[in-house]
Amino acid sequence: MAVARRWILAGLGGLLVLVLGLGLGPARASGPLQPRLTVTGLPPMHTTAILTLQPLKTDQPGPTDFAAPQVELAQAAPPRQVTALADPSNYGDRFLTDINGQPVQNDFIVVLHETVGSAQSALNLFRTHHPRDQDQVSYHSLIGRDGTVYYIVPPEKRAFGAGNSVFDGPNGPETVRTNPAFPPSVNNFAYHISLETPGDGMNNNRSHSGYTQAQYSSLAWLLAQTTVPDNRITTHRAVDRSGSRMDPRSFNTQSMYSLLRSYPTRSGLSG
Ligand SMILES: [Zn+2]
Repeated sequence: MAVARRWILAGLGGLLVLVLGLGLGPARASGPLQPRLTVTGLPPMHTTAILTLQPLKTDQPGPTDFAAPQVELAQAAPPRQVTALADPSNYGDRFLTDINGQPVQNDFIVVLHETVGSAQSALNLFRTHHPRDQDQVSYHSLIGRDGTVYYIVPPEKRAFGAGNSVFDGPNGPETVRTNPAFPPSVNNFAYHISLETPGDGMNNNRSHSGYTQAQYSSLAWLLAQTTVPDNRITTHRAVDRSGSRMDPRSFNTQSMYSLLRSYPTRSGLSG
């Protein structure tokens, strides 16, 4: 009996320590999570870009224009860029601590997606005010079939591109919980880029005809604006833990990397 009572007392003592630890510990976050206000190494929003979705006028080379070698053009010419900001309900702050008050200092990753619908329908969705948490969704940028880069969420903000997700990288599994109502995700340290799906992919099939050369070129250009190393470029399919995401389907990783190699700044950037 005495032994049993001692165990019960020890158990109660442990429970008390646990309760105190949870309720009064100095590391416990008591207020709103602290936002991270600046980021480096991600592509900036081009604030000079127009704010509407009207196409920019492109300069068509005239017959007398000098034709520069194509390789140099691929490196030098930035794609058409349009700012199409999401409604603020569809994105949030990147945080310096998780919901338990633990500091989080993950390096950035890039997560690639596809829209499944048209670029226009995705942009319209992001511009729609979504008061309910479960409806809020966004990417940082989207690349249309013609190679246009749409900037949707500022890089210093947390886009809601992935739900339940983990990045299995060179430093082991990485994920951050910022909302007690949802599983942890990679959103706190992710830069989400989506590719517009081709017409034959607007369904749940496992594959489609793939992405345009203009999309791969713009993707490489956008990635070259970052300092995210190759081994931290991943896909929604790879980080998803819900078992329901397989995008981007029919993505040619080799096309992306061979174009990325044409940027001198990327040649040694492998993490
Ligand atoms: Zn996705």
